[in-house]
Amino acid sequence: MSVRSYKFVSARRPAEVGASIADVDTPALLLDLDAFERNLHRMAREASRAGVSLRPHAKTHKSPAIALRQIEHGAVGVCCQTVSEAESMVAGGVADVLVSNEIVGRTKIDRLAALARHARIAVCVDDDANVAELSSAAQVHDSILDVLVELDVGARRCGVPDARAVLRLARLIATSPNLRFAGLQAYQGRAQHLREYAARRTAIDAAVTCCRETRDLLDHNDLRCKVITGGGTGTYTCEAGSGVYTEVQPGSYVFMDIDYGLNRTAADEPFRDFEHSLFVLTSVMSRVRPGVAVVDAGLKALAVDCGLPQAATVRGICYIRASDEHGTMTLSPDAGALGRGDKMMLIPGHCDPTVNLHEWYVGVRGNRVEALWPITARGPGL
Ligand SMILES: *Cc1c(COP(=O)(O)O)cnc(C)c1O
Repeated sequence: MSVRSYKFVSARRPAEVGASIADVDTPALLLDLDAFERNLHRMAREASRAGVSLRPHAKTHKSPAIALRQIEHGAVGVCCQTVSEAESMVAGGVADVLVSNEIVGRTKIDRLAALARHARIAVCVDDDANVAELSSAAQVHDSILDVLVELDVGARRCGVPDARAVLRLARLIATSPNLRFAGLQAYQGRAQHLREYAARRTAIDAAVTCCRETRDLLDHNDLRCKVITGGGTGTYTCEAGSGVYTEVQPGSYVFMDIDYGLNRTAADEPFRDFEHSLFVLTSVMSRVRPGVAVVDAGLKALAVDCGLPQAATVRGICYIRASDEHGTMTLSPDAGALGRGDKMMLIPGHCDPTVNLHEWYVGVRGNRVEALWPITARGPGL
């Protein structure tokens, strides 16, 4: 038999506005809008109290709908990690984007320079030749790029190691056509999940010292850092209160995940500045073996790189194994009558890569679906 014409719906919507949670198809990404909005308020308040700008990281959510809500709550713009994220933000109405990363390859540099005709775009460098590439592309597109030098403040990822190297690059940027030297990118990624507050504090104190020395050397050479930016959900209070950083760039705070919930505060309590607002809704597919439920959210609906998800709404359930399309759970006797077809909410171990697996946020308030937001920048970052 030959195939008769058939229309396939990709990126199928898991629900329509107005539906109840029970009617949402699974596996789906649920966003509890009340908790999400409290998270937005809380971070905006903390940044404003400390007198620093807030530039949330959009790599967490990859959605201009969320970016615009962060901006409504006082964010100056967003950070992105890739050119495609930046493009999706600008297309969705975000006017100010910092690509907090190095961009390589002719195609992407060209797209970035083109994008700078539509919005204020800043980007990071740690290499002389990259400065020249950005300058030529910006000249071709007759656009201006703000350029920050990335300083390695202990993360041992990208970035130059010291103030002298920053000075050399900053001079190069300042004298390159169509580029403006904007300041320092100084994100201590490794400090974010150090469990004890004292360890995070020590790591950020070192980063602050490094930034201060670099800023002072640049000042002596008539190169002013308009921004010194860094700080994630785990350390933002340290950077915000440093007197040196002018901007923080936390991402995960909007959603929170199991991993961040394991951090401890200065008072040695669990880190609860923010609430879990992001969940994966899953259905029980099979209940054959006693004490075991198999659900439809596995590796293709949940990232497990920072640990397995946890059940949010039902007690006595333990998610013990993820395979491609299956999650295996053990049920204790008090887990209640969890039957085939029943739905439950899981809190992801790691929010950013979990989001990247989905096409839609299903925004819920109480039991009702209030919004569907597309995850427009999902994917590996082409
Ligand atoms: C991931 C990232 C952030 C945000 O970190 P969270 O831990 O999600 O708050 C900020 N800046 C840079 C450069 C990042 O890579």
